[in-house]
Amino acid sequence: MNIYDVIIIGAGPGGLACAVKSSQLGLRYVLLEKGVDVFQGIIDSYPRGKKVYPTIPKGETEPFAIPELMPDETHAPIEEYLKKIAACIQKYQIHVSLGEEFQEIKKDKGMFTLMTSRNHYRTHSVVLAFGSNIPVDLGIYGEAKTVARKLENSDDHLGAPTLVIGGGNAAADVVATLSEAKRAAGDATPVYWAHKMENFTINKDVARDLGEEILLGGHIKILQGAIPKIGELDEEGVEHLLIQTQAVDFGQGVKFQQWMSFPMKHVIACIGTQGPSRVFDRIGLQQITCTEGICKIGKTGDRLIMLTPDFQTSQKGIYAIGGAVSPAYIEIQEEGNFRERKHSNLIYTAVRDAVVAVSHIASVIFA
Ligand SMILES: Cc1cc2nc3c(=O)[nH]c(=O)nc-3n(C[C@H](O)[C@H](O)[C@H](O)COP(=O)(O)OP(=O)(O)OC[C@H]3O[C@@H](n4cnc5c(N)ncnc54)[C@H](O)[C@@H]3O)c2cc1C
Repeated sequence: MNIYDVIIIGAGPGGLACAVKSSQLGLRYVLLEKGVDVFQGIIDSYPRGKKVYPTIPKGETEPFAIPELMPDETHAPIEEYLKKIAACIQKYQIHVSLGEEFQEIKKDKGMFTLMTSRNHYRTHSVVLAFGSNIPVDLGIYGEAKTVARKLENSDDHLGAPTLVIGGGNAAADVVATLSEAKRAAGDATPVYWAHKMENFTINKDVARDLGEEILLGGHIKILQGAIPKIGELDEEGVEHLLIQTQAVDFGQGVKFQQWMSFPMKHVIACIGTQGPSRVFDRIGLQQITCTEGICKIGKTGDRLIMLTPDFQTSQKGIYAIGGAVSPAYIEIQEEGNFRERKHSNLIYTAVRDAVVAVSHIASVIFA
C-alpha cells in the first residue's frame, strides 16, 4: 500500500490550496471530494450569478496566499470564479478524487489509516478541510422539507412574492440577486427579507451591493424580529410557512400576534450551517464547550476545536482548517495558554490556513 505525506479531505478553497501547496513542496498527497465537482460546497450554496468577493478580514495585512485562488477585484460572478479555479487546477496539475467521501481515521504504528467510501489510505498526516455545510434546522412546528436552502433559479420566483429568511451575508446575497432579477424582468412582486433578530449582520461588500440594489428601485421589504413558526398544508394541499412578524404581550398569558403566510416553494432559508463538532468528536479531537467566562465570539454551549497556531488539532498529524473551524476556535499557545480566536469563514482565510498547515506538515516530514 502507498504511504502518503498528507490526505486532504474536501476540495473547497481550503482543500485545493492544500493540494497546490503540497505539490509546490513536493509532498505526496491525495485530495478527496465527496461531491461530483471541485468546489462542490460552493457550487451547492452560492446562488447562480452571485458575485464573489476577495474579502480580507480586518487586521490581516498579507495578500492572498495563493493568488490563483483569489476572487477577482471586479467581483466577477461565481461562474467566472469557477473558470479561474479550473485554470489553477490545470496549472498545478492537481489530481482530485471526486465522489470519494471520508468516513473514518484510525491511528496505528505512528501513522494514520484513513477509510473512505472507496479506499483505505496510509498517511503521515491528514487535513480536515470539509467546510461547515450541515444546514441548521429551521426549528418550526410541522414540516418544512420543501423550503429551499439556496436560490436555485431566480426565474422560479418571478411573479410571486418571495420570502428570504436569515440575517447574514448568504441571505443578503440572495435578496440582492433575486431583487435584481425581478427588476430586470419588470416584476413588481416584493422580496421579503426576514430575520428573527432586530439587527442584520452583513459585511461591507455585501452591504454595498444590497444598498445599490435598493437605490436602483429593488422592491425589498424588511421584516425584523420575524420568527418562522409553523409549516402547514392549506385547504388546497399547498404547503405554507407561517412566520410571526409581530407579538405584543398583553400580560396574563394574552398576546397580540401578527403572522404572514408564504407558499413554501417561495421561501428560501439561508440560516447557516452547523459546525462539524460531531465529526471532531468521532475522531477524538479535543473541543472546549463555550461558557460565558471563556468565549466572547462563540455562543454559550458552542463547542470550539482546539488548534495550535499551525492548525494542528489535539491529535498530532491531524489538522483542521477553513470553514470547518469557523467562526472561532481555541488556540493553544506555545506557553500552554488557551485563547479564543475569531476565524472568519472566507475564501481568504481557508487559503491562508491551508498554506500554514501544509508548510508545517512539510517541516515535520523533511526535518
Ligand atoms: C452564500 C455564500 C456566499 C459566500 N460568499 C463569499 C464571498 O463572496 N467571498 C468569500 O471570501 N467567502 C464567501 N463565502 C464563504 C466561503 O465560501 C467559505 O469561507 C469557503 O468556501 C470555505 O472554504 P473551505 O474549503 O473551508 O470549505 P468548503 O468550501 O465548504 O469546501 C469543503 C468541501 O469539502 C467537501 N466535503 C465535505 N465533507 C466531505 C467528506 N466527508 N469527504 C469528502 N469531501 C467532503 C464538500 O463537498 C466541499 O466541496 C460565502 C459563503 C456562502 C454560503
